[in-house]
Amino acid sequence: MMPPAIVILGAGALDTARRIQTLYADSQVHALQGRVDADVAYGELSAHLRDLYARGTPIVALCAAGIVIRCVAPLLSNKRAEPPLLAVAEDGSAVVPLLGGLAGVNVMAREIAAALCVSPAITTSGELRFGTCVLNPPDGYVLADIGHGKRFVSDLLAGESTRVEGDAPWLDDAQLPRSSSARLAIRVTPRAWDGREDELVIHPRSVVAAVMLEAVGSRALGGLRETSSQAKTAAARIAARVRASLDAHGLAPLSLAALLASPEHMTDPALAEAAAELNVPLRLIEPDAGNGNSAASLLHAALRIPYKTLYDDRGQGIALALSPLAIDPNTIGRARGRLTVIGLGPGSAGLMVPAARTALDEATDILGYQTYVKMAGPLRAGQRVHGTDNREEMQRARHAFELASAGRSVVMVSSGDPGVFAMAAAVLEALDASENSAWAAVELSIVPGVSAAMATAAQAGAPLGHDFCMLSLSDNLKPWGIIEKRLRHAAQADLVMAFYNPISRARPWQLDKALDIVREYRAVHTQVVLGRDIGRPGATLRTITLGELHSADVDMRTMVIVGSSTTRRFTKGAQWVYTPRWYE
Ligand code: SAH
Repeated sequence: MMPPAIVILGAGALDTARRIQTLYADSQVHALQGRVDADVAYGELSAHLRDLYARGTPIVALCAAGIVIRCVAPLLSNKRAEPPLLAVAEDGSAVVPLLGGLAGVNVMAREIAAALCVSPAITTSGELRFGTCVLNPPDGYVLADIGHGKRFVSDLLAGESTRVEGDAPWLDDAQLPRSSSARLAIRVTPRAWDGREDELVIHPRSVVAAVMLEAVGSRALGGLRETSSQAKTAAARIAARVRASLDAHGLAPLSLAALLASPEHMTDPALAEAAAELNVPLRLIEPDAGNGNSAASLLHAALRIPYKTLYDDRGQGIALALSPLAIDPNTIGRARGRLTVIGLGPGSAGLMVPAARTALDEATDILGYQTYVKMAGPLRAGQRVHGTDNREEMQRARHAFELASAGRSVVMVSSGDPGVFAMAAAVLEALDASENSAWAAVELSIVPGVSAAMATAAQAGAPLGHDFCMLSLSDNLKPWGIIEKRLRHAAQADLVMAFYNPISRARPWQLDKALDIVREYRAVHTQVVLGRDIGRPGATLRTITLGELHSADVDMRTMVIVGSSTTRRFTKGAQWVYTPRWYE
């Protein structure tokens, strides 16, 4: 289980929160910014709870149950993610499980209540009667059919007893009405449920399917990044073969724990698609040379774990291994590494695109300039952070590939958009220069972000409403002569100009020189927008004229937008700057 977020509003709840924290390794106390210092600071309770909930984080909120309910209410129609959600009285006198019955909320309520020496306010009948939720097997086990499960539990509640067939150690302590001659049975088995109403079937995820791509007839499409329709067809074929193979041996699709393939095919998009379609992770392992070139040879290599049965459907290119116990897929072979270069946007969480948030949530490793990594939080406690100084960009890019090619899920963080004067180009430069085939096999993707020019323009109105260009005034990586030339051409072409990196301590004179050039072509009344720390605490936005602009008004955290001859300003309700879409 993911460690819970223990959320408090004020200092009065901190003691209780810390006591709960000792129960869950890696859990963190989240506190309202400015009220009390804890592990993670948040700005607003309701948005924070919704964000945690939507990300599937278990939540222990030390405040009134009503407040918690109201906060997450807008998300409740979506049944997809229902993490455990509990309200706990700040003095520890009451523990109320609210949501997440199938995700173990009552288990948490019992644990927390025991630690606080109170009784949990459990209202679930089955749970009260049997001391456990029969419908909530532990990690590695899945219920064959939840609808049927509910009927089964109501039969038990009506007074029937049950047998337990198969290995279900988590039921040992349950106060189930057991009888070896019972009509009802709880059956733990990888075999497919045959539809018998008197059995509650729970599948251990105990089957690994190895696929030999050549035999399934998918061409390795390595190098093509898209999941083309060809890859989709191949993926559907692989998934169908795996399902057919499970079916042929009477195994339930839900018993599948992982799809296994040789690393030489890891860039084939069909494999990743097929694993996604089967809803299991894809794991990679070198075939065991002594066992020939078959899917079974992959399993021989992988199955240092004890397994009961091995099915080799030779002609099909699929082999299955069945283990007596649930298998943790993370212990078999390794994953295909991932490197995702994301942009955080200018700073506020609302301006980060959801795909960037998802990538951060899924990452095992996060790399970037310390300030940006901090902006990317709150991170999960198990995530590794590799913060560095801003200057070592190429070194950081190479480090990212090293981690990803070892199978980790790496996120590289930039501010704004990662492709605008930021890490995406450095990452591609590192890959371009590398001879390492493992780097090329990394699943690389780039997630766009809201760049400083866009964020600043939106605050001011629409100064980029007509043709514009983005220029970095930094001459760290390009000669100053080039910058002068581009400034002259852009000014002459009457483009609106967005200046990134306008000035720094190491580059004190360049901005004045740039403005001198622009003034040769633009009138003194040209509109200029200065956005500083946009989207961050203490943001400022000013609109002045080119005549009024001095380099002292600008620092390295400022975005300078110099208008064209048509950029205008007016005040109606508020002051607005825009560049009309048309030209006279
Ligand atoms: N990749 C970033 C830009 C990096 S260059 C992006 O797309 O926004 C760094 C420059 O961007 C800074 O010198 C400043 O000019 C500008 N900048 C970045 N964040 C900013 C913010 N929040 N407000 C104003 N300017 C910002």
